Amino acid sequence: MMQKQRASRRSKDRQQAAVFAYCGLCGGEIYLGQLYYEMDDRLLCPECLPEYAKSYFLSRQRTAMLPEWMA
Ligand SMILES: [Zn+2]
Repeated sequence: MMQKQRASRRSKDRQQAAVFAYCGLCGGEIYLGQLYYEMDDRLLCPECLPEYAKSYFLSRQRTAMLPEWMA
């Protein structure tokens, strides 16, 4: 058998990996060894990155419309 099972059994809480931080958007746990995104004011889990990016680039958002003189 591989070491993996023994290692996980050794951790204090078998059901949960160690929480490193909480996502600044959804409040979800970011576990040790997991990827996360470090923003200026918060940490983000990968699931929240698209949503955050959308709000981050909101000032760049446009609706494709014909100019008024063409309408
Ligand atoms: Zn999140």
